[in-house]
Amino acid sequence: MPIVEKRAKPESIERIREIVGTDSVRTSKADLYVYGFDAGMHRSMPDAVVRPQNAEQISQIVKLANEHDFAIIPRGAGTALCGHNTPVAGGIILDLQKMNRIKEINPGDLLCVVEPGVICDDLNNALKKYRFFIPGPASSEAATLGGMVAANASGAKALKYGATRDYVLGLQVVTPTGEIIRCGTRTLKNSSGYQLEKLFVGMEGTLGIITEITLKMAPLPEKTAACAAAFKELVEAGQTVADIIAVPIFPAQLEIMSDICVKAVNKATGLGLPECGGFLLIACDGHPEAVKDEIRKVKEICEKNGAFFIDYTEDAKRIEELWKGRKQMLASLSVIKPEFSTVMLADDMAVPISKVPDAVKGFLEIQDKYDIYIPPYGHAGDGNLHTKVLLNPENKEHWLQAEKAVREIYDLVLQLGGTVTGEHGVAISKAEYFKKERADSIPFMRAIKRALDPKNILNPYKIFDWDESFLSNLRYPVEFSKKEA
Ligand SMILES: Cc1cc2nc3c(=O)[nH]c(=O)nc-3n(C[C@H](O)[C@H](O)[C@H](O)COP(=O)(O)OP(=O)(O)OC[C@H]3O[C@@H](n4cnc5c(N)ncnc54)[C@H](O)[C@@H]3O)c2cc1C
Repeated sequence: MPIVEKRAKPESIERIREIVGTDSVRTSKADLYVYGFDAGMHRSMPDAVVRPQNAEQISQIVKLANEHDFAIIPRGAGTALCGHNTPVAGGIILDLQKMNRIKEINPGDLLCVVEPGVICDDLNNALKKYRFFIPGPASSEAATLGGMVAANASGAKALKYGATRDYVLGLQVVTPTGEIIRCGTRTLKNSSGYQLEKLFVGMEGTLGIITEITLKMAPLPEKTAACAAAFKELVEAGQTVADIIAVPIFPAQLEIMSDICVKAVNKATGLGLPECGGFLLIACDGHPEAVKDEIRKVKEICEKNGAFFIDYTEDAKRIEELWKGRKQMLASLSVIKPEFSTVMLADDMAVPISKVPDAVKGFLEIQDKYDIYIPPYGHAGDGNLHTKVLLNPENKEHWLQAEKAVREIYDLVLQLGGTVTGEHGVAISKAEYFKKERADSIPFMRAIKRALDPKNILNPYKIFDWDESFLSNLRYPVEFSKKEA
């Protein structure tokens, strides 16, 4: 879809200053530059960065945007990976981090109420003393609850504990035309009409601005035990994942890493994991007796599938060390070669769990075919497989090879009955392949967007309205023509 600019003019920015106060509006070049991208690879400058303090201010800004025709891009911590926060048509970034109050923790009703800018780890630190938690993404030390709801984030614990959508009971939202509405309830169940609170889950800032969230809480488990297992081949590790789930055993975490990932973690952290083709990190939690039984069965399955190394531990410090290594893996990957960066091209596919072995085998074949580093890893227990493309971002050839490989990866995932995104979302990077995956339902999504946001104010040209190659508006110093890509 051709992009129509929706810039905020100086007079609009002046009116916004009157609404939120001068200190809460930034227009310096440095501010505009850093708010031009998120953790993904796309970049485009906004006209202003605005930090509202409440829903009423946001409502006034949205009404002004409809009147003056400028875009608004809601933003939490900006850790999204697919260009979610990139203001491709200009407009203002609405930075919600000042709205960061935990308003209520109610153990009796199993819920808490937060503003959207609360950081996931801060909430979990506050919930710990009540023995509750909310499962978060690997970026939980920065990611905000507003961003998690808008992206339907999930992480290593999704297999057993679900994704953010499973915790949203109610929302306060400023609509694209500026009304403040409440949807959902403070009850664990409701069948009261359309489940509008779920409509805003995964909408990537395109349908509303979330200003308050009521969340269900999960109980902290009594005990956790972990098992690490190394296999000669990645496909053996993949088969082990499918066999564990088929028992059925639902580990709290079940992570897979390929050879390059293990090397990178060892090089960056000195963790000393055994060099192997495939590595599994498995954690079971719950009642101590149940945990013991589950881990015993997990070890047996690992042995049966050819694990040549198994490390079992109940020691909390060792468990933390192992997961820290896993958490640092993404940052570690770029140490493989000094000129390499990791880029988010095919970063979080999900396949039905029984297809994990086929998927990892296929990814390795594609990696070999294009002679490029695309190490697979991920929360394989729920079928969510990540890859990061390792390339020299200044080398055009690397980008073009990578794009060919990535197209094959997405085709394979769709053939296996999977999705191009299990947790990171669509935004810009995945829009092209999302179209292939959801050809039948995209017209309905578009109809909802057009009905709620007739002037296309909120985070325009994302998810289904993006029509360029995903190599366009890169934030790396390489120029492409669409034809070449
Ligand atoms: C190192 C790293 C690891 C990651 N690991 C994971 C992972 O394990 N699982 C996972 O799911 N993701 C992961 N991510 C992606 C990202 O961290 C998550 O999607 C996270 O939930 C984004 O939160 P945020 O506050 O940074 O949101 P942002 O990046 O600021 O925004 C994300 C989207 O939500 C919209 N948005 C933000 N706040 C609001 C609001 N209040 N109202 C309406 N729309 C809003 C934005 O417009 C944007 O479209 C990772 C990212 C990094 C950098």
